[in-house]
Amino acid sequence: MNKGGKNDEGFCVKCGTCNTVCPVFMATGNEIYTPRGRQHLKSRIAKGEISKHYAEIFSKCLLCGACHEACPRGLDTPELVISVRAELPKLSGLSFLKYVTRKALIHPSLLSGLSRAGAAADALFGEWLPQDSGLRLRLQGLSKKNFKLPASGYIEKLKADETTAAEQQESMLKGDINFYVGCLADHLQPEIAEATQLLLSKTTGTKAGVPFTQTCCGMAALAAGRKDEARELAQINIMAFEENDFPILTSCSSCYYQLRSYKELFAEEPEWQQRALRFSERLQEFSTYFLDKLSAENGLLVPDESAFRKKVLYHDPCHLRYKLHITEEPRELIRLLPGIELQELPDGPKCCGQGGLFQMAHPDLAREIQARLAADFGTLTVKTVLTACSGCLLQWQQGLTGENKGCRAEHPAVFIARLLR
Ligand code: SF4
Ligand code: SF4
Repeated sequence: MNKGGKNDEGFCVKCGTCNTVCPVFMATGNEIYTPRGRQHLKSRIAKGEISKHYAEIFSKCLLCGACHEACPRGLDTPELVISVRAELPKLSGLSFLKYVTRKALIHPSLLSGLSRAGAAADALFGEWLPQDSGLRLRLQGLSKKNFKLPASGYIEKLKADETTAAEQQESMLKGDINFYVGCLADHLQPEIAEATQLLLSKTTGTKAGVPFTQTCCGMAALAAGRKDEARELAQINIMAFEENDFPILTSCSSCYYQLRSYKELFAEEPEWQQRALRFSERLQEFSTYFLDKLSAENGLLVPDESAFRKKVLYHDPCHLRYKLHITEEPRELIRLLPGIELQELPDGPKCCGQGGLFQMAHPDLAREIQARLAADFGTLTVKTVLTACSGCLLQWQQGLTGENKGCRAEHPAVFIARLLR
């Protein structure tokens, strides 16, 4: 498949350019986990020869896209990995962990319930989740003191209150923008959704409509090779936003990438592909949207005491960096903020090791990848890390900033909302 304007030219010439950028290879030093190694393995092994080891090799990919960006022949190794995972029912059902994760993502109410259960989640899952399960680690993370759990999900709260539900209906009809919330901002950190709405109302004078039937973007399902599930989720979201023709803003970078890619899920269904295309043309990326809005405003942003002279690092989500090449807009947005100094990592941006289900399936390897970033981060004097990707944000909050006392990771919407007059 062609992505990022590159042309796949069919076969790998084994030049090794991709190896130099692959975070998994950098952490393991093992050729078998390189993009080149995966290309070689796929070309040599017939379907009947699929083994557990083969499945394990293709599970150790973050789908970050760095190799596709670097490959002189434009070979799309992440797409190859997804297609292999789709061939491997054994892989996608490799452990109970993935079963639970997919269930949670397909049924957001379960995710919401888990988050509200808070500390009880440890006990609930501790009994029947294997000791080596990455999800166990994730759920334990939810109950840590530094992880504030919401009383209810964002959309759940909108629905429960008659006044806001009525306002919501009005926004769907008369507002001029919709909001795709995403799982993190909906179920675990609704302050991201509230801050995004505040930014919208301050910069445009309107609140976004939030269709209540929207659901998970499907990225995790696709990463697990579950294209059918990804398609089902895409159809639910496409239908949810067909009530009007307004643009659709999302505050999550990874959701934005996945929502934009819906048309590729329907290559064999022309009618749905057209609907997916119309849907994706309406999408608005968070930093690009608010850079435009805030650049046009005078005096809307003011330095407050807590933010004054704050040093900030912007973390590039891989999907924005490699697949959509949106790296300057988020930085320009941060540079607009009064009193804020933007710092960069000494060797440039690095993957955080989250990679959707990767972090849950291979927590030790994810930690090694994270450690390389942590070492670079440790050389800076920043106190706040900003990133708009839900997965990266969780990774920073649960690992990196937790290890560096006095640091925190936030969504840019939450950070900027504090600077609004
Ligand atoms: S950069 Fe491309 S052609 Fe070169 S080894 Fe990697 S996948 Fe093969
Ligand atoms: S997508 Fe990322 S992790 Fe996967 S092979 Fe390519 S560079 Fe390595």
